[in-house]
Amino acid sequence: MQRCNKCDIYYFDQFALCPVCKGFLTKDILDKDKDVIENIGNPLEKMSNQMREAIKTIEDRQRDISEHAKKLKKQIEDLRKNDENNK
Ligand SMILES: [Zn+2]
Repeated sequence: MQRCNKCDIYYFDQFALCPVCKGFLTKDILDKDKDVIENIGNPLEKMSNQMREAIKTIEDRQRDISEHAKKLKKQIEDLRKNDENNK
């Protein structure tokens, strides 16, 4: 794997120069960078899990709200009916 320090891009293909900036590429990546690449999947996965949790929470909340709205609507209808009967 090659890396352009200027663009901070990794290339799996072999290039003589960086295709983006035409700068020199470092031939071997540092261990530190290797860790970054290997661990990059984990934060992304964690993030998408958090997103899923957040979406689920929002959907649950929306369901609660619409249930509550239905109840309120029914209460209003009942009050109206009572009002009609009392006239
Ligand atoms: Zn570059």
